[in-house]
Amino acid sequence: MEIQRDSMEVDVLIVGAGPAGLATAIHIADLVQKLKSDNALKGHLASDEFTIMVIEKGAEVGDHILSGAVLDPRGLDELIPDWINMGAPVESMVTNEALYFMTKRGRFKIPYVPPSMDNHGYYTISLQKMVKWLGSVAEEKGVDIYAGMAGMTPIIEDGIFKGVITDDKGLDKDGNQKSTFEPGIELRARVTVLSEGPHGSITKQVLSKLALNKGKNPQIFVTGVKELWEIPKGRVINAGTVYHTLGFPLGMNLFGGGWIYAQDETHISMGLVTSLSYKDPRTDPHAKFQEFKEHPWVSSLLRDGKMLKYGAKTISEGGYFAMPKLYHDGLMLVGESAGFLNSMRLKGIHLGIKSGMMAAEAAVKGLGNEDTSASSLKHYDDLFENSWAKDELWKVRNFHQSYENGLIGGMINTAAQILTGGRGFSSRISTQPDHKHTSKLTEKTEYAEPVAQKFDGELTFDKLTDVYASGTKHEENQPCHLQILDTSICVDKCPEEYGNPCQHFCPAAVYDITREESGIKLQINASNCVHCKTCDIADPYGIINWVPPEGGGGPVYSGM
Ligand code: SF4
Repeated sequence: MEIQRDSMEVDVLIVGAGPAGLATAIHIADLVQKLKSDNALKGHLASDEFTIMVIEKGAEVGDHILSGAVLDPRGLDELIPDWINMGAPVESMVTNEALYFMTKRGRFKIPYVPPSMDNHGYYTISLQKMVKWLGSVAEEKGVDIYAGMAGMTPIIEDGIFKGVITDDKGLDKDGNQKSTFEPGIELRARVTVLSEGPHGSITKQVLSKLALNKGKNPQIFVTGVKELWEIPKGRVINAGTVYHTLGFPLGMNLFGGGWIYAQDETHISMGLVTSLSYKDPRTDPHAKFQEFKEHPWVSSLLRDGKMLKYGAKTISEGGYFAMPKLYHDGLMLVGESAGFLNSMRLKGIHLGIKSGMMAAEAAVKGLGNEDTSASSLKHYDDLFENSWAKDELWKVRNFHQSYENGLIGGMINTAAQILTGGRGFSSRISTQPDHKHTSKLTEKTEYAEPVAQKFDGELTFDKLTDVYASGTKHEENQPCHLQILDTSICVDKCPEEYGNPCQHFCPAAVYDITREESGIKLQINASNCVHCKTCDIADPYGIINWVPPEGGGGPVYSGM
């Protein structure tokens, strides 16, 4: 039975209340206000009912935002010049930092750190708190924010992007309508801005449907696993200390690294990013992070402390050559949805904010001229190509790809890239999707059986304990949001070929494989899902489709 839906029309629809989406909303509101005071409003901007709407799948703005970050303030300085005096939440100013190469038991300081990676004078922040604050700034400027509402389906008519259909609420696990059923609504917009973060579900659909990634490198990802710890006062790490690490436990063949940020005297944010272009199908980013904490130096920082929060997310690291076309008729992509992330610096907030501001300028120009076609919104791309954001991304355009064959080759190439303004040994290093790197167990024999890791519940934790610390909750009786397109592969083919890597790469114990007399069984514990999207990226058969669950479900990353 076809569902009858209400329809609503807005001028600007922003999908996702992250830093890029909120920057878009705030900057549009500011530009419109400026035109109003100059008596220069025209076109759609002059309407009394001019509306900027943001929808967000988390129950509250910030709930799904995970990044214990060192903020490069360049973007925020442009968006809200007085942000510090206005009370934007920051933790501490970076006063001490180092990059270490770690062996299993030791570490040594890497003597040269490129100036672009210098964080002195920047602030460590909880991005969750910062985004909550940006949401309040946007609302004060008249932006309508609807949390607990997920964008599910793009509305594309005659090749023009017209808006999105939001999530249906109140379906049971078989898809039947419960008494609480509320159909999603059609949100139709003159211009829609996708700001879904890495590997967004609508972004994924439009990239292929509208061929926005034609001729580009595939986007590539790391999975970051993070914990927030409370430690005893007086530990030998002062507020404002920032450490980054390479090496252990990822070794010489797996790209990634760790971070340890002292938020204040008693709180440490730490985590590990692991590239999803690994070969060994049993690679487990959560287990690698637990191993990281067992390093003598790291464990000494955490001794007698308490883990407070846990989270995991993917990060888009493909860089400039993996950025899709940024605009289409009625549509723009910002932030990590469009690949705005500097993988060498592991920073994207400032770039995301800048992308939102440039998209805002194009939206205001187009709405003022009553033209939001691709030829009008191309203004966004023109602004980008002439911006500091482009300059920054251009200098690291070949960074992550150069580590595909190991750490040593990657470091040599990085040195060459620094000397040649980002070129290195090749003008454009192409790559393939992460899951294409995964080797079959049947073809490769060099992998040792993974050692079953023991978690002591004090320093190291199993996935279920960590999921509990992520505050994740979903309505249990709803359709499974992890759609397996062919479950026979999971039991007939994958066990032998790849050893069911879903049970390893998922950092939230969603995929449970058991061997019973009747055969192999896959159980999907969807309510554990922390929305990191790793499965949709790393599954070697490409048969896992992550779709948003009922809006409002998922992790609650307070303080992360
Ligand atoms: Fe991440 Fe997928 Fe596991 Fe959810 S099910 S936590 S998206 S890997």
